[in-house]
Amino acid sequence: NTPLSEADPDVAKIIEHEKYRQFAELELIASENFTSQAVMEANGSALTNKYSEGLPGARYYGGNQYVDQLELLCQQRALDAFKLDASEWGVNVQPYSGSTANFAALTALLKPFDRLMGLDLPSGGHLTHGYQTDKKKISSSSIYFQSMPYRIDSESGIIDYNRLEENAELYRPQLLICGASAYPRDWDYARLRKIADKHSAYLLCDMAHISGLVAAGEQESPFKFCDVVTTNTHKTLRGPRAGLIFFRRHAGEDKKESLEARVNQAVFPSCQGGPHNNTIAGVAVALKQANTPEFVQYAKQVRANTQAMAARLISYGYRLSAGGSDNHLVLWDLKPLELTGSKIEKVCELVNITLNKNSVCGDKSAITPGGVRIGTSALTSRGFKEADFEAVADFLHATVEIAVELQREAGSRLLKDFMTVAYKSDKVVALQKQV
Ligand code: PLP
Repeated sequence: NTPLSEADPDVAKIIEHEKYRQFAELELIASENFTSQAVMEANGSALTNKYSEGLPGARYYGGNQYVDQLELLCQQRALDAFKLDASEWGVNVQPYSGSTANFAALTALLKPFDRLMGLDLPSGGHLTHGYQTDKKKISSSSIYFQSMPYRIDSESGIIDYNRLEENAELYRPQLLICGASAYPRDWDYARLRKIADKHSAYLLCDMAHISGLVAAGEQESPFKFCDVVTTNTHKTLRGPRAGLIFFRRHAGEDKKESLEARVNQAVFPSCQGGPHNNTIAGVAVALKQANTPEFVQYAKQVRANTQAMAARLISYGYRLSAGGSDNHLVLWDLKPLELTGSKIEKVCELVNITLNKNSVCGDKSAITPGGVRIGTSALTSRGFKEADFEAVADFLHATVEIAVELQREAGSRLLKDFMTVAYKSDKVVALQKQV
């Protein structure tokens, strides 16, 4: 029982450095959050030692009496957090992450080479929603299934539902996927349901980014309209890194097996081995926390903070994709300033602001993203309010103003030349001190 600092000072030191980085920097990555001490304790517990392939009451290993209790508790909390009735919905809490949850869901719903439609990655969709380029199938969701993406309108930044409907007429998908990694507006689930029904397709929502907001009632609930809902658990939901698959009990009854049987079988044994019980414990704790008035207040604050930051950026004359945000993130279009997302991500890193480059409305590909994605969930967990986010927007404005000057000085569009000038800049050092 030697503590980590003695057993392995190298790893202990790296962890301490990372902890300090998280403390010292302005954390604006839209897919990250700060989970609680209680979640981390559960995640680092003795449950990590236990094998429990199978489901509660039907395991391939002995000694699972407590793990069975834990998994049933986690399932119940997942249903409670999203206000779901156990007679209508079930949930599998074993996926290791959002990506594996999605692949298991596709495995449950489709046969190899069936057709799916998801939001294209440059439009804000996720890799696992069928991503491929003109030249290459990138994700297993496009390698093992056929994919035809739908897109946002390049002017408005809003999903082009008319085009989606037209293309679905031609493509006749077996599965329609909604949900995104970088989409600042809420979804028209009712319209998507109608499109799916026309083609007897399943409708799956991957609510990974917004699941905390859905739990708190701050975004429309996809459960009203979808057959299957997946999520990971560490974004706005503020849990450990894991995944969940919710399935409607009575969907697809025409098929030989129920959706419940197909989802459970797809998770194990089709896609995964033994569940990570320590993580399931962390998820259970996070779901309990998500089902409290304090969490509802948190989610409201996340949205209020996003609105405040968006309004401040717009007041400086900047362009945001889709004109603003309904959720926890904004997409800031830097193309009018002739800057790329990569340059701003790098220069932000130099001044202790952490965010990521992202394709934005009007970008042709994801290779040179024309903007950045900025999220408010992590800093809201640290107590930031609207005025703090206005100050964050002021820092971002100052960073971009410096970047415009650096670009001029570099006299080249290359990131390497831009960074050479940035590393030597006194203005960057001065801004870093202020941040
Ligand atoms: N789905 C969406 C919408 C995401 O944004 C992400 C991650 O960014 C994932 C799935 C993948 O989740 P994970 O990283 O937990 O595998």
